[in-house]
Amino acid sequence: MQFRDLKAQYKKHKLEIDTAIQEVITNANFIGGKEVIELEKELSEFVGAKYCVTCANGTEAMTLAMMAWDIKEGDAVFIPDFTFFSTGEVVSLKGATPVFVDVDRETFNIDTVKLETTIIKTIEEGKLTPKVIIPVDLFGLPSNYFEINRIAKKYDLFVLEDSAQGFGGNINGKSACSFGDVATTSFFPAKPLGCYGDGGAIFTNDDRIAELIKSFRVHGKGINKYDNVRIGVNSRLDTIQAAILKVKLRAFIEHELEDVNRVYQLYNERLAGIVEIPFIPEGYYSSFAQYTIKLKNKEQRKILQTKLKENGIPSMIYYVKPMHKQEAFSYLEFDERDFVITNELCDKVLSLPMHPYLSEEEINTVCDVIIGFIE
Ligand SMILES: *Cc1c(COP(=O)(O)O)cnc(C)c1O
Repeated sequence: MQFRDLKAQYKKHKLEIDTAIQEVITNANFIGGKEVIELEKELSEFVGAKYCVTCANGTEAMTLAMMAWDIKEGDAVFIPDFTFFSTGEVVSLKGATPVFVDVDRETFNIDTVKLETTIIKTIEEGKLTPKVIIPVDLFGLPSNYFEINRIAKKYDLFVLEDSAQGFGGNINGKSACSFGDVATTSFFPAKPLGCYGDGGAIFTNDDRIAELIKSFRVHGKGINKYDNVRIGVNSRLDTIQAAILKVKLRAFIEHELEDVNRVYQLYNERLAGIVEIPFIPEGYYSSFAQYTIKLKNKEQRKILQTKLKENGIPSMIYYVKPMHKQEAFSYLEFDERDFVITNELCDKVLSLPMHPYLSEEEINTVCDVIIGFIE
């Protein structure tokens, strides 16, 4: 069994994918080919954002947003403590200070009450200037943008929606990647919408920010790439990846999103009451980058993981370590009491095989092992 079965996906869409790749090779427009422009248009339409700017990966997408807002030393950027390293890394890379906030135990996303108290505390201390909130749509579930956007407005902060795992989700029909002032996603192969290498995208409705990001991504270009008006980077999505993504986006919309939610339902039916299953609030729709259960404690999780492995079932721990415990952030000062929930989750969470091509038989195999073990 595969944790995320990219081979099954390729098998189903092989002809279209092979044709798309071959066409790019035949045309030899490897950088900035027509597929890149077409993909950006399709992505912005799907998300409901005015602009989509593709780039090299999800981390660079966030860095480009930081550059466009000129985030620098002395600025505070609020991010969830329970996320992939990238979310904090881009903040420190620009010389700003990541301020970690505990998450909600049920949704795994940033705790909006603690977010506001942390912002107030940062203002009162007076050492840093609050600038940005980076909510993460963890495991496919959009964050609570009603609250986040209210708080952002109140304290005059930008919102950067890190939807690397959230592409395809929505709240009452409004798509992930449309909530922040800027939103970013990743096309890393194992993400909900993945390419065959690295890739990423930025979404915004802001004309000025979109122009700036387009410039920053190609060496701070002015009229063209040999007219350089600012210091930028080289961060493009290549044409082959765009061509692959065009095919995969179609599959994603036509059946993958529904299929992955069907897998979620089947898991839930069998695991409810046995272990703690994922919580999707009313009106929210997840693209299920992960299906994550909670065990009683670290020991129980360890034994279950071994049992699953013995039965040929892969499982993963996202995440073993909270952000504030990463060595790279050891230069920052924390109060351990501020991260009670994240510390607990790191000991209890376990992600099970999850992808649109998981069969009912495979789901039952996973559930049989878990049920047999717990009972
Ligand atoms: C994967 C991921 C990223 C980074 O994306 P890359 O394309 O790998 O650079 C950022 N944030 C989160 C939450 C992620 O899961």
